[in-house]
Amino acid sequence: MSKSHRGKGIYELIRQGRGTCPHCKRQAVKLLYEQEIEGKKVHICKICKATIQNKA
Ligand SMILES: [Zn+2]
Repeated sequence: MSKSHRGKGIYELIRQGRGTCPHCKRQAVKLLYEQEIEGKKVHICKICKATIQNKA
C-alpha cells in the first residue's frame, strides 16, 4: 500500500495536486480529498475534509 495522499503520487495530479480549495478558498493547498458538495464532486483540502467529517 502506498500513501495515496503524499509524495510522488500526488505529482501526477493536476498542478501537482495543488490548487484553490473550493470550500475554504485557500490557495495552493493540496487538494487530496474527493467530496461531494451540493451535488458536485470537488477536491478539497485535508482541513475541509476533517471539518465536513466532523459535522456529519
Ligand atoms: Zn479547504
